[in-house]
Amino acid sequence: MDEAIKNFNREIDAVSGAAFQSAKGGDENWNKILNSYGVAPLGDDIKTVLLNSEMKISRGAFPIELRKVYEKILIKHSSSGNPALEEAIRNFDIDAKIKSYYQKIKPFGGMNDIFKNASATITKYSQGMQKEKHSTMKCKNCGAPRLEEMQYDNCLFCGSILFEPA
Ligand SMILES: [Zn+2]
Repeated sequence: MDEAIKNFNREIDAVSGAAFQSAKGGDENWNKILNSYGVAPLGDDIKTVLLNSEMKISRGAFPIELRKVYEKILIKHSSSGNPALEEAIRNFDIDAKIKSYYQKIKPFGGMNDIFKNASATITKYSQGMQKEKHSTMKCKNCGAPRLEEMQYDNCLFCGSILFEPA
């Protein structure tokens, strides 16, 4: 295989592994990686919303942060002038990659975590969770409900575009 493609794949694998090895919702080492790519970590307010949403994770950085790193890597390698690498970048399915990453950090079964979380935070977040249940809009990529009380066009959890461009 082309050396440039090998390097590209190695970089993608390295950041995917680091995201997976991260503590649930990110940690110091993961933040260093985000920082090295010029990506700001999610704010604590958004992290709290995500940790209490129905998109449970058992470990690892949030998918949307990994997506932002992928995007930086794609940009970095996109002006290589190497046709094979450019094709690899064109064929890189970021939604599918992020979805498969999410499958790896999802809790098995998930129910224990839901109950654990619910009991700890039910008072503070019961209103928000109620709203989520009634949400009609779900992310096509990861299934996350769109929070009706917030305005945004990309999924908070995986970063996929929620609305088809007109
Ligand atoms: Zn999503």
